[in-house]
Amino acid sequence: MYDYIIAGAGCAGLSLVFHLLKSDELKNKRILILDRDPKNARDKTWCFWGREPLEYSCAHEVAWDKLVFQGPQKSSSQNITPYTYYHINSLEFYREILSMIEALPNVDVKWEKVLWIEDGKEAGRVNTVRNTYEGKWIFNSINFSPRVREENTIQVLQHFKGWFIETQEEVFHPGQATLMDFQLSSPDEISFFYILPFSTRKALIEYTVFSNDLLAEEEYETELKRYIQEVLGTSEYTITHKENGVIPMTNREYSHIGGKRIVNLGMIGGDTKPSTGYTFFNIQKSVKSIVSSLVVAGHPFERPSRQSRFLFYDTLLLDIMNNDPHAIRAIFEGLFARNKMIKVLRFLDEETSLWDEAWLFLRLPWKYFFKALFRNYFPRRVKKAELSLKPL
Ligand SMILES: Cc1cc2nc3c(=O)[nH]c(=O)nc-3n(C[C@H](O)[C@H](O)[C@H](O)COP(=O)(O)OP(=O)(O)OC[C@H]3O[C@@H](n4cnc5c(N)ncnc54)[C@H](O)[C@@H]3O)c2cc1C
Repeated sequence: MYDYIIAGAGCAGLSLVFHLLKSDELKNKRILILDRDPKNARDKTWCFWGREPLEYSCAHEVAWDKLVFQGPQKSSSQNITPYTYYHINSLEFYREILSMIEALPNVDVKWEKVLWIEDGKEAGRVNTVRNTYEGKWIFNSINFSPRVREENTIQVLQHFKGWFIETQEEVFHPGQATLMDFQLSSPDEISFFYILPFSTRKALIEYTVFSNDLLAEEEYETELKRYIQEVLGTSEYTITHKENGVIPMTNREYSHIGGKRIVNLGMIGGDTKPSTGYTFFNIQKSVKSIVSSLVVAGHPFERPSRQSRFLFYDTLLLDIMNNDPHAIRAIFEGLFARNKMIKVLRFLDEETSLWDEAWLFLRLPWKYFFKALFRNYFPRRVKKAELSLKPL
């Protein structure tokens, strides 16, 4: 019997292992890590903002103190001190943590596909293609039903393709990352470019779309080529690596409680910010609270709860993305280019006061939020009003 079984050795699973092993009280527990994939590929680039660097050494390389927003009408480039915008190469992260546990006798790693997980009173069981393992606590980040959409929830897919390129000329500004560039996007859709420059000639450029349908592979590539040519003004470059992904953004209320003995982690534990897709930093906060709950309370379930008004804001924005996508460029422009970026980052971290939020919202086109409010929170009243207007 293991003390802890970590089902899924991705971002959340390995972040949890890292913090368990940093804890004097928990570092000698018997741990099993399971994943279907040996984690030897660079599949993601995780970005996040923070007031200080994280404990992982792979996060310290290149970081940015300035963020750029380029809207259809207004642009803004701002220093974000006391924050820094960091990035992590997922392969370096997997390697750092897997090499940390290589020599530890109390941690086993098995590359086996998990088929299902069972809850129990005193322990949980994880069934893989080869074995069944028992653990006092099961930490699961495997989504057994991806892309299943629950009724009465709003979902928008954030889908993107990124190229790491090296140009012949010096075209990038290494001190500043571009969060969103709407210069080439058409008014009816939500699409933008994202740039992480690593030097004057090397950068990751991503074409991102918020919608319900994915594009054909060549469509992302055509847009990337167009941006490099028309906005960066160069056609002399080599692509050194490609990355793509889909992040479901939803107001579905995921629970971190998966059962009496099962804890949900990462995206399926509700760590994705519904309106932005940012997940990495929330995962770090969650795994730290799991570790402190295990130490202090003897179980992993104690954690600070989320203020419900932030889910309300996320719901409105997701609704606008679905029903009034043409309004999003103006909303993002109001938020990022007409406010102090550090205030927006604090808001996205859900650390602002009501007063701060009122100030941020003053600069937004309100009409769309009222429409979303009525669609989501007063549908019965709207229906009733419609019915009463019908002739008898
Ligand atoms: C390309 C990409 C870029 C992203 N960039 C950012 C970013 O910049 N900033 C940010 O905040 N968020 C980002 N995200 C969102 C989020 O941070 C990541 O998706 C993150 O990896 C989520 O962590 P997780 O542990 O929940 O899932 P994962 O990291 O996907 O881990 C789940 C693990 O489960 C394993 N698994 C799945 N099924 C099984 C099975 N049946 N049996 C065994 N193992 C299984 C997988 O192999 C994987 O290792 C990005 C997402 C993608 C896809």
